[in-house]
Amino acid sequence: MRKLFIVIVIAMAMLVTACASESNAPAGLPKAKEGTLLRKIQDRGTLIVGTRTDSPTFCYQNPQTKQLEGFDIAMAREIAAYIFGDPNKVEFKTLTSPERIPMVKSGAVDLVIATMTITEDRLKEVDFSVVYYVAGQRLLVPQTSPIKGLVDVDGKKVGAVKSTTSAANLRKATKAQVVEFDSWTDAVKAMLNQQIDAVSTDDTILYGLQLANPGTKVVGSQFSYEPYGMAMLKNEPDFANAVNTVIKNLKSSGKWKTIWLAEVGNKVGITVAPAPPSDEWKK
Ligand code: GLU
Repeated sequence: MRKLFIVIVIAMAMLVTACASESNAPAGLPKAKEGTLLRKIQDRGTLIVGTRTDSPTFCYQNPQTKQLEGFDIAMAREIAAYIFGDPNKVEFKTLTSPERIPMVKSGAVDLVIATMTITEDRLKEVDFSVVYYVAGQRLLVPQTSPIKGLVDVDGKKVGAVKSTTSAANLRKATKAQVVEFDSWTDAVKAMLNQQIDAVSTDDTILYGLQLANPGTKVVGSQFSYEPYGMAMLKNEPDFANAVNTVIKNLKSSGKWKTIWLAEVGNKVGITVAPAPPSDEWKK
């Protein structure tokens, strides 16, 4: 009898523990309406995010650990955590900047999180989340370069990736000869091989490239306004709401700053995080 009592007590304790851990498990979102992109993602069980792997601090594959890291990667995990209750339910697909819009439109990825600026032209093709970061364009040059800022690049060869705001901004703001590449890594290689004089894009990307290439330096002040959004298919309000809720919560809870310090500040030696940007993309 006494043995039976002990067995019952142990069984009840196990049941209570099991229930408690179940209720502690983050639940994720309830199933969305059939036929929506959000429902398709939920039924698939993973969020497919297109990103680059060449921008330390934002979207980068660490050659030592082989893991993806950076602010954009952390954002993707936050969205997976909100949808599924599990930050690891993300499949990352590597893309180059010119591939971002085609991959959203073909459905190859659910979301692009890759230092992507919201622009009027891009909004004709895809939807964007609220702004999750604001960058500005600057210049990257070899350590020994005499170029100090934008006024010095007229007549010089400046590298930028195809189909980016960086290439367009250079054409607008300078008389430089813009040389186009498929990736930022290729552009820096060409600069280090003395085929071009400078590389110009968002400071976020340049800081990362500078970290990866110690023979380079970022110069000049910001000469553009680059509000970053996450790109997704048009007319998918449930998915857009989920993504925007995550970004807004990160900003209001202070977690945006924690992520910034971990992914950006710590790597570039800045100990105070900036304030998160406003949601609106137009200044
Ligand atoms: N943010 C810019 C753009 O979306 C620059 C570069 C990039 O992400 O490659 O075009």
